This record gives sequence, structure tokens and C-alpha cells, in this order.
Amino acid sequence: ETIGANLDRAIAAHPDRDALVDRPSGRRWTYAEFGRAVEEVALGLLAAGVAKGDRVGVWAPNCPEWVLVQYATAKIGAILVNVNPAYRLHELEYVLDQAGVSLLVSYTEYKTSDYRSMVERVRAARPALRTVVYIGDPTWDRLVERGSGVPTGRLAERERELSFDDPINIQYTSGTTGFPKGATLSHHNILNNGYFVGELLGYDEHDRICLPVPFYHCFGMVMGNLAATSHGACMIIPAPTFDPAATLEAVAQERATSLYGVPTMFIAELGLDGLASYDLSSLRTGIMAGSPCPVEIMRRVIGEMHMEEVAICYGMTETSPVSTQTRRADDLERRTSSVGRVLPHLEVKVVDPVAGTTMPRGEAGELCTRGYSVMLGYWDNPEETAEVIDAGRWMHTGDLAVMRGDGYVDIVGRIKDMIIRGGENVYPREIEEFLYSHPKISDVQVIGVPDDKYGEEIMACVIPRVPGDTLTAEEVAEFCSGRLAHFKVPRHVRVVESFPMTVSGKVRKVQMREEFTRDLG
Ligand code: ATP
Ligand code: MG
Repeated sequence: ETIGANLDRAIAAHPDRDALVDRPSGRRWTYAEFGRAVEEVALGLLAAGVAKGDRVGVWAPNCPEWVLVQYATAKIGAILVNVNPAYRLHELEYVLDQAGVSLLVSYTEYKTSDYRSMVERVRAARPALRTVVYIGDPTWDRLVERGSGVPTGRLAERERELSFDDPINIQYTSGTTGFPKGATLSHHNILNNGYFVGELLGYDEHDRICLPVPFYHCFGMVMGNLAATSHGACMIIPAPTFDPAATLEAVAQERATSLYGVPTMFIAELGLDGLASYDLSSLRTGIMAGSPCPVEIMRRVIGEMHMEEVAICYGMTETSPVSTQTRRADDLERRTSSVGRVLPHLEVKVVDPVAGTTMPRGEAGELCTRGYSVMLGYWDNPEETAEVIDAGRWMHTGDLAVMRGDGYVDIVGRIKDMIIRGGENVYPREIEEFLYSHPKISDVQVIGVPDDKYGEEIMACVIPRVPGDTLTAEEVAEFCSGRLAHFKVPRHVRVVESFPMTVSGKVRKVQMREEFTRDLG
């Protein structure tokens, strides 16, 4: 099934239920209205000459038009190119050229990002970029207006030319470990993944999903939007970019049943002054994903945010994204300390990263995924594709994991983040988990920094619970003493106000390593 056909079924099944709510503007769409709005944009794109397989870029923070373009491009078989809203000029140029974008939907401006002036600067040198439309601007209205002159029969005709395994999306990875890579995904890849994620959360047309996660990222557009529409649930946009107070306000006002976030978002929400004053009683479930989910934070989300059934998902852009997920019936231990088990119709295995042989259960190795969710490949980059997808169609994730005896998976960390101290493998994740229980610590990231004696030494970068508070390496060592093996105790401690982050909410450890290595001298 194509994404368009799937949406049509949701519209037919419950035309009068809410599909989309935009809190900042107060606008809202029922499924029937949403379907009409998507069609208007799809006709507009046809009028602009967008052919099947053409690349349509979207460069904007979260807004309803983002979602309309997502479904409109799927309906006409154009390939949606998600452009990270935090990009600046040279990154925008890279994506426009690499993906060969012919129509770009952008935004006028938001906070410190003057999208329009950046787009205008790169546009002249790019004849291939035929059309640019700005959301909230007459150019957007004109796109829709021109579409009204196109007979709807042309849309139906186009839809008949589409196949579920056509490429429909180029999603760039977060760029946590290097330059972002464009994963090419089909309807089949992402629609099924969104559907199963929603299915495991028990979604139906009564669910209302609060989405503070970016749409440009698979967390928002697949686990959020596609999970919602494939079950007839409602998408709620609390704010254009993450804002903890606006998020909880949206949950309370819109009676959301589900809330998403990366761990740092939940940490910010839990740290809000008036947390107890928000009425979160409508919440039932949600997803924490994207980076290691601290047990302590999971416990607090369940206990203090009314999210009894919250799930952890593990995945990556290249696999649509989700590979494993915890289940509603799992006990507390599994739901807070594993990333769940494999999704229906997918396979996962843990292999020796060098030899490629399957590891015994309980032993760490590289996690690999196979099945419908594995991307078609990196856009226009067969070499890099061949490096991660092997001849047996297994996607090598670059993450270290342990397969438990019961089939549940523990993520140990990224292979690239592993610290080798004096020949001993140290996993930052384990130390971070331990330090979360320190009373002075709100958030912590552990990195390896170069050391003459041990090759690498361990550094803990700490955000204190009380801003301005101090924490010394001696205090941390004392806290760890007798409870953590001596070679895992951080030698260095840095107190910081924030971590360098990607827009999808991941900590850029590479950047932290560079910065702190420099100031170690
Ligand atoms: P890049 O590939 O550009 O360096 P990225 O890997 O962060 O960036 P994404 O595809 O957004 O880009 O993220 C996938 C990665 O996120 C996974 O490979 C994994 O390291 C991490 N991740 C996702 N979910 C979890 C989770 N539940 N627990 C631990 N890590 C997770
Ligand atoms: Mg990656």
C-alpha cells in the first residue's frame, strides 16, 4: 500500500475525528479536512510541474504545512527531502545539490534562522532549483491557488502510477558522528514501520499524540505522523521547536494520550518548576528514543508524568527507523532498562564486529537488522551503502548491543563512543547510568579524552540540578568508590550548562571530545 492510499482509508474510516492540531496558531483539521488540505497541496505541486521521482525539499521547523507537504509528496510520488531546520548555508547547499532538489518549501523566519534570506542567497546559482515556496507567505498561497486549476482526475491518474516500493523519502541522519547521510526510503519501508510502532503502543482513533520531536527527523515524521495516520490518531504540534513548558501545556489542553521525546526532552520537562501543576492525567503512553534512555528518567516519566505504558524504541534513520521496541505488557525492569525486542516481521542479530559471526546471547557485539525496514540505500552513494548493508541484506548499525536470553536487547553504546582505557573497554553508557543517581547531577555525558599513560581517560561532563552548582573530580571519585570498578571512575569532571546537541536531540560527543581535549592542553 502507498502512503496516500493508507491515508485515504483513515479519512474514510473516521472523517470527523481530529487529524492535526497546531497549538501555536490554534488551527486544527479533522481527517476529512486534512485530506482536502493534502489534496490541495498535491494539486499545487502538480501544477508546479513536479513529476514522479522529483525531489521536493522541506526546510522548516515543525508546522502544519510540513505535514501537508509530507503527505502531498507521497500522493504524487515525489521524493520528500527532509532538510534539517538548524542547517546553515553550506549545509543547505550540500543537501540541495546532493539530492537534486527541484522544488523547495521553506519558511520565512523563525528565531535566529532567517530561512528566506539564506534560500535567496543560494538560489541564483542553482537553475535546477526551479521553484521556491515560503510557508506563511503569498508564494505558498499561490502554489495552492494554482492547484485549484488542475482537475482532480490528474491526481488519481498519478496515484495509479505509484508503487509501494518506489522511493518516497530521503531522510538525512542526525549527523551525530559525522556528516549526515541521506537514507533513501520507500512507502513500504516507512509506512509499515510507523504502523507497527503505533500498533505496539495500542493506538486507535482515540489517541492524541503530542509531538515535540522534529518532523525533519524520522522520530517525528514516521514514529509520529505515520504511526498516527495509519491508526486514525491525532497529531499535536506543541511548538515549532522544542519548548518544555509549551509541550506540557499542549498535553494538558489537548488531552494528549501519548507524548514523545528524546531523553534530554523528558529531562527538561521533569525539571520544570511547576511540573505538578500541569494536568497530565490524559497521558497513557509515549516513546522515549534516540539516545540511551536512563533508567532513572524512565522511572520518573512513568511515576511523575502519568505515562504508565511509555515505550523505549531503538532504531536508526537507515532502518525506517525502529528495529526494537518494548511492549505494553513488559515488566518494569524490561521497560526501563532494555530497548525491547524486535518488531514484527523484522530480524535482529548481534555479531562480532570483526569476524561477523553471531555472538552468544549475553555477549556484546554489533547489532544488525534485516527486513522490510532496511533502506533502499544512501542516495546516490552505492559505495557507502555497500559499507553498511551486506550481501545478506543485513544493515550493520554501528551500535554495540547484547541480546538477552529472552530476546530483549540492551544497547551498550555506539562503537565509535567506546572508550579504551589502558586496554580495558569502557562503555560510557554504564557510567552515565550510575552517575544519574548522584543527587547533584541533572544530566551527564561521559567521553574519552586522550591520555599519555592510558591512551584514553574518562571524563564526565555534568549539568548540575542547581544551576551554578559545582562538582569536583574528588567528589565524583568518592561517590563512585566501592561501587564502580576503579578503571571506570572518571578522572576528569567538567561542569557545563548544556551539551552540544543535534536538532534531533542527540548529544554531539565528537564535538565535546574536541572541545575538552583542547582545554586539557
Ligand atoms: P549519524 O549517523 O549522522 O552520525 P545518528 O546515528 O545519530 O547520526 P540517527 O539515525 O538519527 O542518526 O540515530 C540513530 C542512532 O541513535 C542509533 O544508531 C543509536 O546509536 C542511537 N539510538 C537510537 N535509539 C536509541 C536507544 N533507544 N538507545 C540508545 N541509542 C539509541
Ligand atoms: Mg547513524
